[in-house]
Amino acid sequence: LTATEEEVLDEIEAKDIDFLRLQFTDILGTVKNVSVPARQAEKAFTEGIYFDGSSIEGFVRIQESDMRLKPDPETFAVLPWQNREDGASARMICDVIDTSTGEPFEGDPRRVLKNTLERADEMGYTVNAAPEPEFFLFEEDEDGRATTETGDHGGYFDLAPKDLASDVRRDIIYGLEEMGFEIEASHHEVAKGQHEINFEYDDALATADNVGTFRTVVRAIAAQHGQHATFMPKPIPRINGSGMHTHLSLFEDGENAFHDEDGQFDLSETAQSFIAGILEHAPAITAVSNPTVNSYKRLVPGYEAPVYVAWSDRNRSALIRKPAARVPAASRIEARFPDPSCNPYLALAALISAGLDGIERDLECPDPIRENIYEFDEAKREEYGIDTLPTNLGEAVEALEEDEVIYETLGDHVGPKFVEAKSQEFEDYLVDVSQWEIDRYLETF
Ligand code: GLU
Ligand code: MG
Ligand code: MG
Repeated sequence: LTATEEEVLDEIEAKDIDFLRLQFTDILGTVKNVSVPARQAEKAFTEGIYFDGSSIEGFVRIQESDMRLKPDPETFAVLPWQNREDGASARMICDVIDTSTGEPFEGDPRRVLKNTLERADEMGYTVNAAPEPEFFLFEEDEDGRATTETGDHGGYFDLAPKDLASDVRRDIIYGLEEMGFEIEASHHEVAKGQHEINFEYDDALATADNVGTFRTVVRAIAAQHGQHATFMPKPIPRINGSGMHTHLSLFEDGENAFHDEDGQFDLSETAQSFIAGILEHAPAITAVSNPTVNSYKRLVPGYEAPVYVAWSDRNRSALIRKPAARVPAASRIEARFPDPSCNPYLALAALISAGLDGIERDLECPDPIRENIYEFDEAKREEYGIDTLPTNLGEAVEALEEDEVIYETLGDHVGPKFVEAKSQEFEDYLVDVSQWEIDRYLETF
């Protein structure tokens, strides 16, 4: 056992943990659990825990269904929302091992991100990331089913008593802190019932792990208050949706490689090529960072979500923004298009690999747009050479299939499975008849 593994065993003992939840993520980003008695922890470290991968979304074909979970001891955390009297539980996030080869399983999204980070490492970079997940808190009905009603009437940065949900948000923050999160800020968002909690940046892998944990904690603690927390990107039409802005920076030899006092907005050539890479691959990335039918109802003009492929130092309608940095080490870019329904491992892999591609090819960054692009007409967009993002999931998946860099980032296993699942999802949507159509046409024709 490694020193960290020994520490975990000691902690299990000291904190009287009864159950271990071994977690991993399927291709769609859903956190899966295999629960084992805590006394199996040592065995989990030495041999791994076997499970049947054939029942997991997009994992394997039936005939090759044996998988092994290898817990990452760095991710050990006691679950704060469990009733202690029923026995305490802790979790660890796992790598998935293919038992037929003994190698990391290619279909494990965590592996996909690790591959991209290894590529960054070969180029001399470590990658830091910080997400800003937004979500809505909704009431449950008498049967405990989620509604789209909010009990709160707060607005951006409002405080109690109007922001009734602030109690829930406070408990969520306590829960996250107990699980080791460093919370930077939390506030009521623009829309009724909408919230944002920001946590500290970390290396990209830890950040992807954190997003999964964050969504789990937020939902669990909201549920304790009889509320349903949703990360659906656009639950209510004609008001702001929920994004997951993602801040990114590269470090080289311990220095921020995005910072250069002489560069445009203090951005180095490296940063500018990284931006150019994301802009070039944006349509394909969208399939991964905005992977639901509903995602494209958020990416429309007028609600602080991006629609156009452009960047800026201030503009909220742009795809990428350069936030002001207090110190050089904090230099970073903010990708504003991802939403919190994404698989964070795959979304980060796609964004980072697009940026690295920009650096490798020394891509030139287009001029920033400092005006409100929502107000541009088509002619003006053409004049500035501004493309639009895919307008629906079908277009995004097509763009993904055509983009070798992003498609290959997902790998031979996840790439085709992802495209298959998302094409099916889009087709299901196309054949459905929505309430909007009934309201609009039923009595007219
Ligand atoms: N909710 C907005 C979005 O959909 C973002 C608002 C903000 O700038 O925080 O991306
Ligand atoms: Mg926000
Ligand atoms: Mg932001």
